[in-house]
Amino acid sequence: MARRCAALAGRWLSSPDGAQSLFPGIPKGSRSCSSHPSSPQTTQEGGSPSSADPLSYTEEHRALRASLRKIIDKEINPFVDKWEEDRCFPAHHIFKILGQAGFLGVNKAKKYGGQNLELSHQIAVVEELGNISAMGIAMAIILQTDMATPALERFGAEELKQQFLVPSIAGDFVACLGVSEPGAGSDVASIKTKAVLKGDDYIINGSKMWTTSGSQADWMCLLANTSTGPPHLNKSLFCLPMNLAGIHVSKNIEKLGMWASDTVQVFFEDVRVPRRFLIGEEGRGFQYQMLQFQEERMSSTALVLSPLTNIIHQTIEYARNRIVFNKPLLDSQVVHFRLAELSTELELLRSLLYRTVAQYTQGLDATKLVSMSKLKAGRLSHEVTDSCLQYWGAMGYTHKALVSRLFRDLRLVSIGAGADEVMLSVICKYMDILPTTKSMK
Ligand SMILES: Cc1cc2nc3c(=O)[nH]c(=O)nc-3n(C[C@H](O)[C@H](O)[C@H](O)COP(=O)(O)OP(=O)(O)OC[C@H]3O[C@@H](n4cnc5c(N)ncnc54)[C@H](O)[C@@H]3O)c2cc1C
Repeated sequence: MARRCAALAGRWLSSPDGAQSLFPGIPKGSRSCSSHPSSPQTTQEGGSPSSADPLSYTEEHRALRASLRKIIDKEINPFVDKWEEDRCFPAHHIFKILGQAGFLGVNKAKKYGGQNLELSHQIAVVEELGNISAMGIAMAIILQTDMATPALERFGAEELKQQFLVPSIAGDFVACLGVSEPGAGSDVASIKTKAVLKGDDYIINGSKMWTTSGSQADWMCLLANTSTGPPHLNKSLFCLPMNLAGIHVSKNIEKLGMWASDTVQVFFEDVRVPRRFLIGEEGRGFQYQMLQFQEERMSSTALVLSPLTNIIHQTIEYARNRIVFNKPLLDSQVVHFRLAELSTELELLRSLLYRTVAQYTQGLDATKLVSMSKLKAGRLSHEVTDSCLQYWGAMGYTHKALVSRLFRDLRLVSIGAGADEVMLSVICKYMDILPTTKSMK
């Protein structure tokens, strides 16, 4: 660990002042497609590297975050308003910048272009990504690092990793994840897309729904049925190039939030993919995907920490300055008590996540804690954004206010990457209180 952190320091510690200049906020973008910065930033101190738990994060974690923060402040946040209006951000451009700086392979092996650091470093990076002022961009980034590529790195053949993982870590490829379908989201086992082996190729038919980055992606980590056996043993994961004949992509789906992220439906019509593009063993795809979900859920939790901290801080400042009935709004006990309560909940979530990551890193079964963290991240995202928006009054109801953007964007946390009820079912299973078919008879 010490050796790896030293390597990290060599790469990132060149920015010791990074933690001092962290002022993200609500950029006001132009509607044009130019790449000129749109507006100055407002202050949100809560999500800064210096606020990370000193017991869990070392100087190296903070340096990593500070370095990423510079990229966010220079290359991403000034353009966010425009990308929100466009309903899409230039993923190849941003991923190349992140890839060159090493942020798309923080905990991936060096031989594939990664930094070979620990999961805690990746979690620190995701916390920092939460300072992007539109969550759709952060979501697309963690989709690449923590949702579409972990199974490939863990189980893929060497040749496959060279072909898909290496360019994804370098930022030359954009990846998407094809699990959900029109008829199957929470119940992953019931997907219908089929991959049938014919000679040396699989022939794929079916469709995927809600595919993040699907209109820009170079390849998809695809889950498909490869046999008619039991639903947990009949699935396989593939690296599917998105330029193959027979792949059709719908137009962008308009959503409640995450506007800067493109979301599409993808149709497969007799798509021929070489057998060697299978990740790992045929029939093991469901298990591989379930493992991949653990990383996805820890990342989804880490992603909410900075925006929720930031919006509590912004709301405190707003309520301090807003005079209502001849006194600052913040002086109403119901307001400052509520903000204190939410801050406490947020610190509990932070601690739970760090404990979860530690357990996972030790190689223990962290599924219960992962699910608890993800559940609480979703619940708290509603509570914090809803309560804060209320205190902003009509200002909070305007569509460019950060509080309203976060209210819209973070609503997804309770639905995507395993809905709250799915998390509750997993927790119940681990508590041995989930009714079995037998007990219900
Ligand atoms: C913006 C966005 C981006 C996405 N990106 C991707 C992507 O890149 N790749 C991908 O594969 N998927 C993606 N998804 C899909 C996402 O993972 C699914 O929406 C999610 O898994 C829930 O599935 P569903 O929407 O089909 O809801 P359903 O499965 O139809 O569930 C509906 C609701 O039922 C409730 N529910 C579910 N299970 C239970 C239960 N056991 N008991 C009681 N209630 C229950 C929950 O409240 C749930 O919200 C994305 C979704 C969105 C909105």
